[in-house]
Amino acid sequence: MQRTKIILEEKDMPQQWYNILPDMPTPMLPPLHPGTKQPIGPEDLAPLFPMELIKQEVSQDRWIDIPDEVQDILKLWRPAPLYRARRLEKLLDTPAKIYFKNEGVSPAGSHKPNTAIAQAYYNKEAGIKKITTETGAGQWGSALSLACNFFGIDCKVYMVKVSYQQKPYRRSMIMTWGAKVVPSPSDETEAGRAILSVNPDSPGSLGIAISEAVEVAAKNEDTKYSLGSVLNHVMLHQTVIGQEAKKQMEIAGDYPDIVIGCCGGGSNFAGLAFPFLKDKFEGKKMRVIAVEPSSCPTLTRGPFAYDFGDTAQTTPLIAMYTLGHTFIPPGIHAGGLRYHGMAPTVSHLLKHKQIEAQAYDQLEVFDAAQMFARAEGFIPAPETSHAIKATIVEALKAKQEGTAKTILFNFSGHGHFDMGAYDAYMANKLENYPLPDEDIQSAIDLIKDYPKAE
Ligand SMILES: *Cc1c(COP(=O)(O)O)cnc(C)c1O
Repeated sequence: MQRTKIILEEKDMPQQWYNILPDMPTPMLPPLHPGTKQPIGPEDLAPLFPMELIKQEVSQDRWIDIPDEVQDILKLWRPAPLYRARRLEKLLDTPAKIYFKNEGVSPAGSHKPNTAIAQAYYNKEAGIKKITTETGAGQWGSALSLACNFFGIDCKVYMVKVSYQQKPYRRSMIMTWGAKVVPSPSDETEAGRAILSVNPDSPGSLGIAISEAVEVAAKNEDTKYSLGSVLNHVMLHQTVIGQEAKKQMEIAGDYPDIVIGCCGGGSNFAGLAFPFLKDKFEGKKMRVIAVEPSSCPTLTRGPFAYDFGDTAQTTPLIAMYTLGHTFIPPGIHAGGLRYHGMAPTVSHLLKHKQIEAQAYDQLEVFDAAQMFARAEGFIPAPETSHAIKATIVEALKAKQEGTAKTILFNFSGHGHFDMGAYDAYMANKLENYPLPDEDIQSAIDLIKDYPKAE
């Protein structure tokens, strides 16, 4: 009997998160205070995050216990199943074995609740009554609303106005779980009012929404801010993915030669890859590939440099691959991959050649998504489809070389709220957005006088 999926029992769920920081082959560069240009301390982050999360952000402990209350909620959908994509293998006529970890089974439909639940828990423990955040297409906003609901915390989501108008169903999800949604820019904050006074019809951007959410948290004692990717503690919380996958691959009697994840801020990639990279640091041979859109090519065309995490320059300066905080990516449908920067951990690993990066165009990504949906049934999110495209490329390469490679990718979320994008694809209305070097260079030029990331 051929096995299609491997399901662990609840008792097999990881009880600790894996922290990659102490295992990094070389030390990472510290975040810098934007004013003093000196490394920041915990007190600089205290207005925005509860102390337990700040401790996790800088912790050198390899393993950090997952609180029981967090595990109890993760059990609603975890352990997540691992699939062998036999039908896709057959369609590609490849000797490669393809596995994927399905994170689309969470209530919000992506990996994001893995960290939302943990973050809401530590805020509740710290006595926080209210959390603010931003959301683009609504994936993070819905995950955090779900999490705050479980812990009785008020949640306010600043949602990029154009998405608020164009993606009404994620907005409805956010509201169903009890959070308030405000189209951003709003007249509730100074940052929002500043934009509206210049352009009352501003469509908004992730950068503006972050500034609004941060401003409200900074000004209110009982309110904190929450970020869905990029930060070390977010990568940490996502490592349940890779730890489960390692157990499941063992049950399958296999081990990946290639580990693949799509990369926006880096969290679902890190969640799957970091526990495997631990083996790589100990001598195991494997390739680990981060996949991004050609139209937001942070890892493949950006410099490794100190830059702000947001457009309004309110965050610390972070050493990372970046396209410059003023870079506005074209309107591809993979909204979760439209970020100018990248997690410092993921950036550091690429800089030191522990991982590699690939970029693909929107149309070839949707070709891959449709092929996958027809072979395996599941309809992937446009973000996830980047990982699928890279998987297909590697599986076809294995066929050419006649090698039976084992490939594992992260199915970061389903595409049920992205059917408008699939409609556009099927009507031949989707475009690629080739990016001239000048467009990237002009945004990068603006950060060239920042401290050097050396
Ligand atoms: C948000 C999102 C991403 C990108 O975010 P990362 O932090 O890079 O993981 C990828 N896939 C899905 C389904 C998402 O919702």
